[in-house]
Amino acid sequence: MKKLKPLIVGNWKTNPGSLKDAKNIFSGIKKAASVYKGLDIVVCPPYPFVSILAQSVGTGKKNISVGSQDVSQYETGLSRTGEVSADMIASVGARYAIVGHSERRAMGENAETLKVKLQQVLKTNMSVILCVGEKERDTEGGYFEVVKAQLKEVLSGVNRSDFHKIIIAYEPVWAIGRKDNVALTGYDLHQMVVYIRKYLKESWGDTIASMMKILYGGSVNSSNTEDIVINGEVDGLLVGRSSWTTEAFRDVFASVNSCMTTHSIKDLKKTLKKAQAQKKNKR
Ligand code: PEP
Repeated sequence: MKKLKPLIVGNWKTNPGSLKDAKNIFSGIKKAASVYKGLDIVVCPPYPFVSILAQSVGTGKKNISVGSQDVSQYETGLSRTGEVSADMIASVGARYAIVGHSERRAMGENAETLKVKLQQVLKTNMSVILCVGEKERDTEGGYFEVVKAQLKEVLSGVNRSDFHKIIIAYEPVWAIGRKDNVALTGYDLHQMVVYIRKYLKESWGDTIASMMKILYGGSVNSSNTEDIVINGEVDGLLVGRSSWTTEAFRDVFASVNSCMTTHSIKDLKKTLKKAQAQKKNKR
């Protein structure tokens, strides 16, 4: 984990089924956030709960905020029944918006739509969490090219001055929502993180490449967090199911927090080198 304050984002998808439950879960998460002050925590609930949960955070500098799971590609004022514009979401206090989650892509969102959505978010004061990730992990490393193409098609044309508002969430689709909870290994994740940074550097230079946060998502829970965080060297996590209860999400915070407090950057590098050597020896 490179940046000093890890960003932990919870994606609630279509949970919970009532405002009462949403408030209860969020209230527990807020309490946990006040314990783990070294983390930045974001909860992305379904649209109807965004406003009330965001208001409950209050003003002032907090390490917890609310985000949206998506935004419309359409701006405010158009005749697009059922759509929720980025302006509306920002106006009720959301600070982040996820764009390009694989579940939205599977519903037909393509690069063109995502590019427009990203621009809609950038026009507001929210940050974008842009999801990318391969559907399958082939043996020839084709997944690197898949991720690069996804980044290129959405990020091309973005103003350099807007990059500080973009966070990349690498979520290999095959690792999302797995019943066996198998996440990508920290070793494999680190290769992708290095690849993404290299691509960002080649395209936009060193400053942007090193400033941008890269998160990992895909079956994260408290038992695989340590490998992902230490060996993967990500800047945070995008968590689905393990963010749906206060207890599970709090366990993830505790796990990330203990990685941060027990491992210095030097230790992290040592662990990583060891893992790489072990992997080489196995081949
Ligand atoms: C997700 O939906 O972004 C996700 C990572 O889900 P899960 O943690 O349940 O795999």
